[in-house]
Formats: sequence, structure tokens, C-alpha cells
Amino acid sequence: MLEQEAGGKSGMAASAIEIRGLVKTYAGGRHGPEKHALKGIDLDIPQGSVFGLLGPNGAGKSTLINILAGLVVKTAGQVTIWGFDQDRNPRQSRASIGVMPQELNLDPFFTPREALEVQAGLYGVPRRERRSDAILRLVGLEDKAEAYARTLSGGMRRRLLLAKALVHHPHILVLDEPTAGVDIELRAMLWENIRRLNREGMTIILTTHYLEEAEEMCDEIAIINEGAVVARDSTARLLDRLDGRRMILTPDAPVTALPEGRGIEAAHHADGTIEITYRARETPAESVLEAVRAAGIKIRDLRIEQADLQDVFLDLTRSRAG
Ligand code: ADP
Ligand code: MG
Repeated sequence: MLEQEAGGKSGMAASAIEIRGLVKTYAGGRHGPEKHALKGIDLDIPQGSVFGLLGPNGAGKSTLINILAGLVVKTAGQVTIWGFDQDRNPRQSRASIGVMPQELNLDPFFTPREALEVQAGLYGVPRRERRSDAILRLVGLEDKAEAYARTLSGGMRRRLLLAKALVHHPHILVLDEPTAGVDIELRAMLWENIRRLNREGMTIILTTHYLEEAEEMCDEIAIINEGAVVARDSTARLLDRLDGRRMILTPDAPVTALPEGRGIEAAHHADGTIEITYRARETPAESVLEAVRAAGIKIRDLRIEQADLQDVFLDLTRSRAG
């Protein structure tokens, strides 16, 4: 079982992680200019949640996570992990968090069991508290406990990285793009493990650029774009914003009347197609089709476009500008 007492000052830490004014500027290389990867992030991540950091490639997700993990040094700002200030209590803050990195960086000469023992040693986990076998079982690597890492498949390496993140019983587990390039079976296994750990009390933070994945797994989501948080909400409320659909019809014959109905907005394009926008939750596609038939339109071709991450960004930046 996990202990859930908050560290730092006495009393409960309301948040698993508190980030204030976090800035990361990578120094420019010989040819490139400096890179403002994080431009002043404020973020609270509640205890016990499955929290998603969502954003396109280059948004700054890994930079943020690697700062939490102590792998990247921040330029400015304050990070508090499980009540421990990262600068004032580096040891305790590091002990509170386990990170499964995006890159598959493993020592090729260690077996999974050795890798876990070394990791446990690094984190100062006493021998009697180590549970390498249980962790290997959890990630389905018990058969590979004595195999060299270089003989493991990509999926097995990823599972070993998850196992390594768990050796010191962290309160918070961070996963950077856990399912990028992962097959369906491994993905299902990862999600099952993550759900179980969360049920047992672990706070989970994961990054992804797959919207569906964030929808399925996360209670709350922060959307990051170009080093800034552009939205932070419960998944349900965020989905409400993403509920828009566009149905694009090619009619069989010229159209005289546009479809009408509650929640339906229709427009005629110059190329003869009709674009209907609606909200999928309130107005199922079937109702839209009924309105189309009621307007006497025969459909030759049809496609439906959903809002994707890009639309959300556009929507968010638009509503900010306006
Ligand atoms: P994400 O994980 O969301 O794809 P990253 O945090 O990896 O984003 O990268 C954010 C930005 O910082 C990108 O423009 C990336 O090229 C840049 N960046 C990341 N790491 C470094 C580095 N070590 N040196 C210079 N620039 C970097
Ligand atoms: Mg990344």
C-alpha cells in the first residue's frame, strides 16, 4: 500500500504538484538561437488524479516532465512536488516522483532484475523493502527477469522503464508519451497497470498528443502549446468544447432549401457542397440526416469532420484574442 501523507510542511498538501512561473530557455547552439521551451507555466495537479498534459510535438511537454524528474534544470520558477520545494528539498521531492521517460534509454548489459536493483540503490530503497519480482510481474516481465536489456523488444523495454519508475514506491508516477509507437496489446496492458496504480492511490501524470487517449484516461487535462498552458479543465468540460462536428454533403441535385433543426447550422458552398455544423452530444448525426431528408436533399456523398486538437488550439487562441 502507498502511504498518502503529504510531505513538507505539516498537514495535507492539496496538490501533488504545484508549478509557479516555470520558465525554461535552452541555450542556443552554434547555429540556432536560444529556445524558449516553457514561457511561465502555472499549474496545480491534484492528488489522486490521472492528469493529462496534452499538446503537439514541440509544445514543451517533455521539458516540463524532465524538470519535474530533475533531469532538466529550470531557468526560473518554482516547483513543489508532494509538498517539497524542488530546490530546498531536492531529495524528498525526487523521492516522491517516478518518471517513465519518452526515450528508451536503458543500459544494454543489465538484466531487468539488475536494472531494478540498481535503480532501487540509486533511490536508497533498503534491500528488505525492495520488491523487484512483484514489479516485474506487474509489468509482465517476470519471464525476462534474467535477459539482457539489449535482447528485449521495444515493448518490453518500455515496460522495463515503467518498472524502473516504480521501484521507490513514488506517490506520483509520470509517463511521457507512454503509448507512442506501442502496439495495441501493450497499450492495453499499460492502461490497465496505470488504472490499477491510480486506484491504489497513486497520482498519475501522462503526456500524449493523442486526444482520444487523454479523453479515455484523464480526469483533468492541461493543454500546452508553444510553452504555455492554453487550457486547463476537467476532461468532461474540455470535451464540451470539442464537441463540434462538420458534416459536408454533396447533394445529388441542386439544392433549393437548406436543412433546418435545433442545433443545426447549414451553409451552401460555392462548389455545390453543403456544410452543416452541429454539436454531436446534443444533436446526433441521425437527427442531422433527418433534417437533410426533410429539406428534400438526396445525398450523393458525405463526410464528417470532428474537431481535433488543432481546432481546439485555434478555438482557444481565437477566444483569447477576442
Ligand atoms: P514536446 O515533448 O511537447 O514534444 P519538448 O519539451 O521536447 O516538447 O520540446 C520543446 C521545445 O524545446 C522544442 O522546440 C524542442 O526542439 C526544444 N528542445 C527540447 N530539448 C532541447 C534541448 N536539449 N536543447 C535545445 N532545444 C530543446
Ligand atoms: Mg516529448
